[in-house]
Amino acid sequence: MIRTMNIPSKLPDTGITIFTQMTRLAQENGAINLSQGFPDFNTDPKLIELVGHHMRIGHNQYAPMQGVPVLRERIAEKIKELYHADCNPETFITITSGATEALFCAISTIVHHHDEIIIFEPAFDSYLPAVRLHGGIPVFVKLQYPDYTIDWDEVRKKISPRTKAIILNSPHNPTGTVIGSQDIIQLQKIIQNHDLLIISDEVYEHIIFDQIPHEGILRYPDLAARSFVISSFGKTYHTTGWKIGYCVAPPPLTDEFRKIHQYVTFASNTPIQYAYAEIMEEKDYYHKLAVFYQHKRDLFQSLLQDSRFTTLPCRGTYFQMMEYSKISTEPDTVFAGRLTTEYGVAAIPPSVFYHTKDDHKVLRFCFAKTDDTLKKAAEILCRI
Ligand code: PMP
Ligand code: GLN
Repeated sequence: MIRTMNIPSKLPDTGITIFTQMTRLAQENGAINLSQGFPDFNTDPKLIELVGHHMRIGHNQYAPMQGVPVLRERIAEKIKELYHADCNPETFITITSGATEALFCAISTIVHHHDEIIIFEPAFDSYLPAVRLHGGIPVFVKLQYPDYTIDWDEVRKKISPRTKAIILNSPHNPTGTVIGSQDIIQLQKIIQNHDLLIISDEVYEHIIFDQIPHEGILRYPDLAARSFVISSFGKTYHTTGWKIGYCVAPPPLTDEFRKIHQYVTFASNTPIQYAYAEIMEEKDYYHKLAVFYQHKRDLFQSLLQDSRFTTLPCRGTYFQMMEYSKISTEPDTVFAGRLTTEYGVAAIPPSVFYHTKDDHKVLRFCFAKTDDTLKKAAEILCRI
């Protein structure tokens, strides 16, 4: 008999992601899936046509390692227009296979053994394993419930001579909060005294509501000079399955980033890069996207007004946090499971985004869904 081998785990405390778990549970139970963040409607047919077009004309071989030039140029133009920053596409911008790859490569680029990395919790789940895999030490700062604001005094207290970087995420997954100008000032003060790098996860940069400006790090030259700014086309064009993202960083950081990127994926999907480059010529798209999702947020909130859930503020992303303590005292993981199997609506329990499993009796619902899906889900949620 052939004996399979056991190997020591590099991530002994890590299981299958909550997104995979909840989507599977939703499918098994025929539940409406408001858990994993992805749209249940299709992308623009024009974009699909563009991908087909670039396949037909022969854009089917390896893209340059750093990404197709025309896409990097479009991104540089967008950055100039929205954030008034000059980024040479040759030396600052790298196209990656989703923001996930960009985050992994950025973390891999900077983290040496025993480097400390500040992570705000609740945190999107890909940061921590990447830090750990590279021998880094996560230093956690909790966002202050229920507003999920940053306590900068605590950040300052947690900075040590070994602190290498801070990972930021705004608009923030899972909470839907955004950083403001005061947060930027605090960060600027910190970097005056400490030689820190910043990884800024801005994948929801264009999904921000109520006319609030996105405080992108690229707006601030002192911060941008030490930052990896990461974004994703998946959120912006309703194409989460296409997995194209990018990383913007000054040349010395980009040089090191590309050394790793070239051996993680080498290059990303060629025809899709060309298609995004063309669709990016539509300049008012970002404004329309924000309006589109603001309508969905408002609809979902208004549909749940008479429910026993309490709505927490949502200023960006396509996630709505709902507090359920009037309904149940169960832990959020248990309640999320029961909501899926007994009632037929799947959501994400945010306690999994804390290393201490903090349970505020809140669930995260994704509203990147057709109005019809949102109405059906709300009808069920209002009956609970
Ligand atoms: N960061 C955050 C905060 C996200 O929500 C996501 C979405 N999965 C990602 C990164 C990864 O983006 P991508 O799908 O482009 O890899
Ligand atoms: N970003 C998506 C979410 O937060 C899902 C990401 C994933 O499945 N890895 O739901």
